Order: sequence, then structure tokens, then C-alpha cells
Amino acid sequence: MLPLEAKARWSANWSKPTLLKVAGLEEFAAGVFPLERMLLDLRAPEAASSSSLCDLPWAGYLVNEDSASQYSRSEVALLGDQAVIRPGDVVEIRPGSSKIAVRYRRGDNGNVLFATERCNSFCLMCSQPPREVEDSWRIDQLCDLVGLIDKDEPSLAISGGEPTLLGTGLSQVIQRCADALPQTHIHVLSNGRKFEDRVYADSFTGIHPSLTWGVPLYGDHYRLHDYIVQSPGAFAQTLRGLYALHAAGQHIEVRVVLTKPVMERLPDLARYLYRNLPFVEHIALMGTEPIGFAKAHHDELWMDPADMGSTLLDTAQFLSRRGMAVSLYNLPLCTLPEDLWPFARRSISNWKQHYLPACDGCSLRDQCGGFFGWVTPEWTSRAIAPITAKEDRSCAKH
Ligand code: SF4
Repeated sequence: MLPLEAKARWSANWSKPTLLKVAGLEEFAAGVFPLERMLLDLRAPEAASSSSLCDLPWAGYLVNEDSASQYSRSEVALLGDQAVIRPGDVVEIRPGSSKIAVRYRRGDNGNVLFATERCNSFCLMCSQPPREVEDSWRIDQLCDLVGLIDKDEPSLAISGGEPTLLGTGLSQVIQRCADALPQTHIHVLSNGRKFEDRVYADSFTGIHPSLTWGVPLYGDHYRLHDYIVQSPGAFAQTLRGLYALHAAGQHIEVRVVLTKPVMERLPDLARYLYRNLPFVEHIALMGTEPIGFAKAHHDELWMDPADMGSTLLDTAQFLSRRGMAVSLYNLPLCTLPEDLWPFARRSISNWKQHYLPACDGCSLRDQCGGFFGWVTPEWTSRAIAPITAKEDRSCAKH
């Protein structure tokens, strides 16, 4: 689990937050990004030994903590674990801060364009509690960031908060992705409520060649959904939004966080999805991330995954037998019946993912998604136990 920021010190006075691509010899040779937007990584001996390379107009140099100042332009010294920043990453230097932030990590499975801290829902298990702040400045920052991301990046998420609160700013960001990253799959996490405005939904038609909307639906009945998102009227708005997105030619995934109240009606929700939203292309059934508001609502939300098995199996089989794609996210394999293992994905982003001491010696560790780094005993299943090679019959199933 590598953190997304680290202590650093730098010699120049950057007057405003500045995004820079970290460059090794590979980035220099590729010539894709302007030198003025790159931080030459001099921690590698081969780059440090080339004086002609160092004379080029880089934005600055990334140096070892103990390096003496020797270049005319700005030096950034990363303190502590040097693996936090590597060539290809995009970092943000913020004036007045003693930390450098990683805004894009090459090779990570969980890169996110963070759209806004604001939200129009207030979900009981929200992992990123919203704040009512004016942060429309993020639109320009995200467009700038997109221009520094690797052109062959397989996928990016856009999340928040609620990204549609950026209004037309969200289409600006996605359009920028279409221009700079047409090969990259864009996955926007939205509560879908704003799309009840058909004109807004239509504004995304054809905007990017590979775009999916991940929209949560927590029940087949308005009372349950509105309770989970703590917002009266949200169920009706989200449904109207889902139909409007479909009419606008969008790809849609429904996301269901598996809290105790949701589990009580999960089979009803599955039938509802099949009958009323058959155009949904993927259904993600997800374990709760134990952070943010979820921590304050543990008793209302927590259900041990070991007690979900038969309901999850019935639900997954009901949907998949009817041609609807289903995945299980954030659920350790040892808590699930073997028949569910083919549905389970390693869904937790690399920088958040972690294993417990009990996982040592488990023969399925490479296939299991493990835990969020901030998991605590009260959010840990009683069923966690290493799976031995003798028990592991997954090869026969896959
Ligand atoms: S013991 Fe750990 S690695 Fe093995 S299945 Fe359980 S949670 Fe996953």
C-alpha cells in the first residue's frame, strides 16, 4: 500500500499549485510531453550522469534527499520512501505545503480524477463525506492533469463527491479525456440524480468512445434507497436519470453496496433490475469501505459477509442466468461460498489494498482482493482463514 502523498522539500517558489510529469529516460525519449511540464528524475544514476540531458529546459529535478543543490532550476527532494514517486507519475506541488501529492500513478489500477467534494446525497456509508465548498477550480486542474497522463492508460475513474455537480464542467473534463486519452476507458461514479434533466443527459451523447456511468441503486423501493442515501426523492430522480442516460446512448453499471438493510431486500432488487432496467450492462455488488460516514453507522450497516453467502449466490445466479453481468467487489474469498469465487474481483485499488496476518500462507492470496488498508476488527469477518492448496478447487472451476 503506497500512500498518495509524501513529505518533500523544494528549492523554487512555485507561485500556484503545479502539476508535473515525472520523467525518466523513457519519457524523455518518447517526446510526448513538453519538457517544461516535466520533473527530471535524477535519482536514477544514468539520468544524473548525463549533463547534456540536465541542461534541457525541464520544469525541475527530482533528487535524492541528501543531494546537494547543483542545478540552476528547481529541485524537489522527496523525503522518506522513494518508491512513492516513480517515472511516469504526475505529481502536484502546492505552495506552502511540505508534501508532494501523487495525482496519477503509472500502472495503478485505481487512478481517479477527483471532481468535487460536494454532493447532493448524504449516504450512510459514504467513504468521502461531502463538504460544501466552492471547488469549480478543479475543472481546469483536471483538464491539465489529463494532458499529463500516459496515452496508453487503460482506465480512469472520475469520482467525488458527485461529479455531475460540476455541471457542464464534467463534460469539459470528459471531452478533454476524449481529446487526450481516446483509448482510455472512463468510468464516472455518479448518483445519477442530475440526469433526470434529459437535456443534461443528452449532452454526454457520443462524448467519449469508451465511457461508463457507475450509478448506485440500493433497493427496489423508494423508502430503502432514500434512507440509505439520506435524501428524500433520490430513488425517483435516480431512476429517471438511469432511463435518460440509456436514452442518451450511455453505458451503465449499477453499483450496490452490501449493507445490512440492502441485503434484506437484495433478491427483490435483483428482480427489479432484471424487469425494469435490463439495459444495465454490469451489476457490481460491493462490500462496504469502512471509512468516512460508515464508521459512525457500523451497527446499522455491518453484516458479516460470511452471513451473506446464500443470498449473494441466489442473486448472482439469478442475474447471470438472465444474461446480466455480475461482479462481487471488496469481499475476501474465504468469506464466500466457492460457487461465488468466479464472480469475485480484485477490486480494491493498489494504494488502498492490504492483507491481514491470517492471509500468510493462503494459497488464494494472489486471486483474493484482500482488505481496505483501514479495516478494523469490527469490520472483519469471523470467517477469515487461509485457504490451503488442498481446499482450493478454484482451478477446476475457472
Ligand atoms: S485468508 Fe486472506 S488472502 Fe486468503 S482468501 Fe481470506 S482474505 Fe483472502
